[in-house]
Amino acid sequence: MDPTDLDDLGGALSEQALTTDRATVEGYRRDWTQSESAGMPLCVVRAADADDVVATMRWAGARGVPVVPRGAGSGLSGGSCAVDGCVVLSLDRMRAIEIDVATRTAVVEPGALNAEVKAAAAGHGLWYPPDPSSFEICSIGGNVATNAGGLCCVKYGVTTDYVLGLDVVLADGTLLRLGGKRIKDVAGLSLVKLFVGSEGTLGVITRAILRLMPAAPPPSTLVATFATVEAAADAVIAAGRTLRPSMMELMDHASIGAVEDYRPMGLDRTAGALLIAQSDAPGAARAEEVETIRAACRDAGARECFVTEDADEGELFTAARRAAFPAIERLGAVMFEDVGVPVPLLPQLLTGISAIAEQHDVRIPVVAHAGDGNTHPIIVYPRGDPAARERAAAAFDAVMHLAIGLGGTITGEHGIGRLKRAALPEQLGPDVMALTHRIKHALDPKGILNPGAAF
Ligand SMILES: Cc1cc2nc3c(=O)[nH]c(=O)nc-3n(C[C@H](O)[C@H](O)[C@H](O)COP(=O)(O)OP(=O)(O)OC[C@H]3O[C@@H](n4cnc5c(N)ncnc54)[C@H](O)[C@@H]3O)c2cc1C
Repeated sequence: MDPTDLDDLGGALSEQALTTDRATVEGYRRDWTQSESAGMPLCVVRAADADDVVATMRWAGARGVPVVPRGAGSGLSGGSCAVDGCVVLSLDRMRAIEIDVATRTAVVEPGALNAEVKAAAAGHGLWYPPDPSSFEICSIGGNVATNAGGLCCVKYGVTTDYVLGLDVVLADGTLLRLGGKRIKDVAGLSLVKLFVGSEGTLGVITRAILRLMPAAPPPSTLVATFATVEAAADAVIAAGRTLRPSMMELMDHASIGAVEDYRPMGLDRTAGALLIAQSDAPGAARAEEVETIRAACRDAGARECFVTEDADEGELFTAARRAAFPAIERLGAVMFEDVGVPVPLLPQLLTGISAIAEQHDVRIPVVAHAGDGNTHPIIVYPRGDPAARERAAAAFDAVMHLAIGLGGTITGEHGIGRLKRAALPEQLGPDVMALTHRIKHALDPKGILNPGAAF
């Protein structure tokens, strides 16, 4: 069978699903990283439904053609970047959302954006908590495939905590139905969990059943400034000993400046670090939580501490934090890190990152989901300067090595993708890598699903 003969594939798909138009294909080659090493796809399939996904996998499986599943392309680890001769299998047209109030679940096609699911749930007084900063531009399929985190995850958990069921198409075109609208279900192996975070390497998600919560009350917001990131991290550790705030985000001096340049909001540019914490605890517990966080900030030497009950005012600070990535991207070429450590080791991680920046002569602004110990050091270097790029790449590796040395992880939420693949064995070790490869081989013996990503 000729793997480049697309007539059979086109014939098996719904109308207009297959495209080889160069301009269209170009738009599906890369994720947010804009990786220069992305390959040239054979074609793009924009699936209209699960049947299109099954047909694509059957066609590709029979011919050994690589398939790169793709959500909205907002990934920061190169996970949905194309490889040469692949089919980019885009789920962006599959966007149906059904809310089931009686079971408090959402049945969602993978291309629906996170923000669309939140809005649909809110229409019924319900809430889908996972909130990546990119919630307006990323898909649920991508969120499930990367096990995305976000700002409220410190209290409410990450994507996997909300996935009750999945439909998944395997490499040979078999459609599996896993889990369901059941809060409790321990029948068989936890296969739903196996596919969450598998980055398109084990199967293609065509439907997700998501757990919803009653809408949370508007939060109180506390904003504190510190002379150093380490002092801010000390406050995070102290507050986290007794409570789980609904948000605990950190911005360092450089990221505060970048956001102020990008969208002036009156943040204190002279601060070494800014902590944004929220509490949505009910009744009197709210004031107690806020007071505990305020005391932790004061004891860690906060320069200023400000509390607002006004949800809109609180949202302004959250928006400042969300603007950090685009703001920092304006400073030069960037490499996004996503390392995490146990929360008590945050100060060591932050001190180590600034030493790495100095050693490799690059800038590394840091924002962090600090309450989770998950940081985003963003390595910035001048565009079009190969020597600086090499120094940045060395700094990128050094940050991952630092995190592993502290008992941490090279990725807290963005996934391994293509950027961090070489570092994974250092974190997992040979036995876990070998088991991972055996699982991959059992599900995808020809290695056609997202080759070169994750492991
Ligand atoms: C400004 C900005 C802020 C961000 N903030 C956060 C944040 O706070 N938290 C966070 O976790 N991430 C964040 N991200 C990263 C990104 O948005 C998430 O990783 C997101 O989950 C990716 O979703 P996507 O739909 O864009 O997926 P893509 O980028 O298209 O794909 C990501 C991975 O999932 C796989 N995949 C996608 N859809 C499917 C499917 N249906 N079946 C199987 N595999 C699939 C792909 O093959 C790839 O490996 C941010 C990104 C940006 C640009």
